[in-house]
Amino acid sequence: MPLDLSATSIELTRELCDIESVSGNEKALADEIEQALRRMPHLEVLRDGDLVVARTRLGRARRVVVAGHIDTVPVNGNLPVRFETEGGVDYLWGRGTVDMKPGVAVALKLAAELTAPAVDVTWLFYDHEEVASDLNGLARLARTRPELLAADFAILGEPTGGAVEGGCNGTMRFDVITRGRRAHSARGWMGENAIHKAAPILALLADFQPETIEVDGLAYRENLNAVLIGGGVAGNVIPDECAIHINYRFAPSRTPARAEAAMRALFEPFGEFVLRDLSPGARPGLDDPLAQEFLAAVGREAKPKYGWTDVARFSALGIPAVNFGPGDPSLAHADDERVPLEQITGCEDALRAWLG
Ligand SMILES: [Zn+2]
Repeated sequence: MPLDLSATSIELTRELCDIESVSGNEKALADEIEQALRRMPHLEVLRDGDLVVARTRLGRARRVVVAGHIDTVPVNGNLPVRFETEGGVDYLWGRGTVDMKPGVAVALKLAAELTAPAVDVTWLFYDHEEVASDLNGLARLARTRPELLAADFAILGEPTGGAVEGGCNGTMRFDVITRGRRAHSARGWMGENAIHKAAPILALLADFQPETIEVDGLAYRENLNAVLIGGGVAGNVIPDECAIHINYRFAPSRTPARAEAAMRALFEPFGEFVLRDLSPGARPGLDDPLAQEFLAAVGREAKPKYGWTDVARFSALGIPAVNFGPGDPSLAHADDERVPLEQITGCEDALRAWLG
């Protein structure tokens, strides 16, 4: 039976979940999605690997991307999915019911239904989100065919419990390496202890008061933490090197270059600074009129996203982006992930009201 996009978003979620699509095995689901969308004459459909793009071409002044990944983390005795009632709440239970087949179902249903939306819409269903980012379908499209991502605003249907989560913090990881000189620990004065030289760095980190920075009306709380530490060679040797691995989560209003400069200014006086990883944050873009209308349609206050998500890929292309989808994000990847049915229809109604 081919996918029927006129089914309810709840039924569609169940069908999507039961087509197993663990990362790397998205082909069958991508085929189903592509075939179902190709039956819609108002959509132009393109396929790139296991990524499917469907877009309206109505010549509207604004274009919106609605995107979702179709892969899941590995199945663990939680397929097929099933309906359950717990504490008076009706749920769909099993792999993908939170992360993020209901968001995909809502998008598919509205892609088929909204033949003349108020804005042009690019519906995007992509592969390999749950694995290393060099495999990510969205990242691949941004590299190879960025024109397909062109838009004024983007919504990712990742689970947010039906709230709007805007943008995300950036993240950088770096080492601060202190150096000394080895000696026998029985004659420690002959050496120079690199671990002891780490003390002021740790004191600085312990006393550091991270900022909370408001960006487009959302308060982004920053974090600066030592997350790993290593040093020393043996129980009777003065250590000649100590590396403190530090993670800085910075508000999306800071550019990566400014974040790096701030960290270098702070830590270079204490040791060698080695940058390991740096990903920019994403501005929520909630000051945009399009976003304001979206918030009004959802009818709930927007929240900042602290973790790094694919919205940053849109932000890197200059497109403000938010997360908005059914399901409790804290249940994502859990073996007992389950979504309240009313969150699926709630997200569907809000998106329909805004796009329609
Ligand atoms: Zn996800």
